[in-house]
Amino acid sequence: MERTTVAVIGAGFAGLAAARALRAHGIDVLVLEAADRVGGRARTERSAADTPVDLGAQWIGHDHARMTALAAEFGMTLFPTPKGGKALVLDGSRRLRFTPLTAAATGVALVWLELLARTGASRRWDEVTVADWLVRIPGARARRVVEVIVSEAVACDLDQVSVAALAQGIRSAGGLRIMLGTAGGAQESLLSGGAGGLAQAMATGLGAAVHLGRPATAITRTADGVTVATSTGSVRAARAIITVPAPVAASIRHDPPLPAERRLPQDNLRMGTIYKAIAVYRTPFWRERGLSGEIISLDGPVPVSFDASPPDGPGHLCVLVPGRAARALDQLTGTERRDTVLAALADHLGQAAMNPLSWHEKSWHHDRHVGGGYSAIPRPGALDVLTDAATPTGTIHWAGTETAQRWTGYLEGAVASGERAAAEIIAALSNRVSAR
Ligand SMILES: Cc1cc2nc3c(=O)[nH]c(=O)nc-3n(C[C@H](O)[C@H](O)[C@H](O)COP(=O)(O)OP(=O)(O)OC[C@H]3O[C@@H](n4cnc5c(N)ncnc54)[C@H](O)[C@@H]3O)c2cc1C
Repeated sequence: MERTTVAVIGAGFAGLAAARALRAHGIDVLVLEAADRVGGRARTERSAADTPVDLGAQWIGHDHARMTALAAEFGMTLFPTPKGGKALVLDGSRRLRFTPLTAAATGVALVWLELLARTGASRRWDEVTVADWLVRIPGARARRVVEVIVSEAVACDLDQVSVAALAQGIRSAGGLRIMLGTAGGAQESLLSGGAGGLAQAMATGLGAAVHLGRPATAITRTADGVTVATSTGSVRAARAIITVPAPVAASIRHDPPLPAERRLPQDNLRMGTIYKAIAVYRTPFWRERGLSGEIISLDGPVPVSFDASPPDGPGHLCVLVPGRAARALDQLTGTERRDTVLAALADHLGQAAMNPLSWHEKSWHHDRHVGGGYSAIPRPGALDVLTDAATPTGTIHWAGTETAQRWTGYLEGAVASGERAAAEIIAALSNRVSAR
């Protein structure tokens, strides 16, 4: 049986950050990763123009200090998310005319959400789904604008998430303005080497301690340690950190079984549903027409698109399709899906959109190792299950973006959670040494 001091389960940003923090304290680690790659919900491909293309996480927010520091450590630069030009809000094939009523109703709904997030939603709002709340917004267009914005923010079906859970997510990001914003907000920058590239750099630094294609299948815990069964032999360690999102981690067997309160997150969180695609062009051609590349479409197959182009390089158009709309795209063949997405862009940005140099897509809800994205969301009425999500269970510690208080669901939260779990173990191991 292999031996190490800490077995880290999952090589996403939480697991990699935890392993690095432990290593930095001279603690021996082994990172067990089920997939054949590191990065989890961050994955970078190369485009035909040889630029990095992020199929998962891509934006670094204004105050994402940990991610900014990691980028600097690995020699990556952060470049501003492109802005300038006209954004299009489309109602059918035309630009939406914001009547005073639509503008007012949209504004009031978003301000109300912002205030709820700031003041903290009462328990009552955990019983009300976002879909039920939307019905109360006067005017079909205002309702739909808010629906598209909120769907993009949470990436799930809105009858599966409570208003309180949405408010908590907004709160953890510092407010709705920050959550939705570019400069000064959560979408401020992009990484020169891609988020997946950064994860790979972190893993390379850990060398042979990272084992790919090695899922943890069962964990036996005792007072003095854990034995982690994997697809290829067992690992004995003093402690384990589980960084796998709770709904996916439910497949890991525990002996003795986890206490009931620890099973709550696994039983009551669901991964979001999100499809992401990036089309790469020789140039960001839409800018020649004074367009920003940003589209909000009230009824098309692609609710939003963004310009995610690197500076002075090719054009990268990114689309994020959440919930039901993502599942509708799943029904198409790969070619039909590509044509559908590109046609939706071409209608408004120009026919050049139909001919990308390369095309990249991923339905995260079909990724069996992470189960979906952006993150795991409590079912309505179960918001409390996140309260103690970070409390250790004996020799098992819990990390992953869902366990973070701040920037839950983001890379920054993932890194913070990994560092927090590592700090718990460093403290526990040094107490053990000093007690001897
Ligand atoms: C499409 C999309 C866009 C996003 N955009 C952004 C963005 O722009 N900015 C941002 O900050 N965040 C974004 N996010 C969210 C961000 O990706 C996540 O918050 C973050 O990557 C989570 O990291 P993690 O380490 O907590 O979990 P994960 O990345 O899910 O890592 C968990 C790891 O555990 C592994 N695993 C699973 N089961 C086992 C097992 N039994 N044994 C061993 N290993 C196992 C998985 O393979 C995975 O590698 C996005 C997510 C998606 C899907």
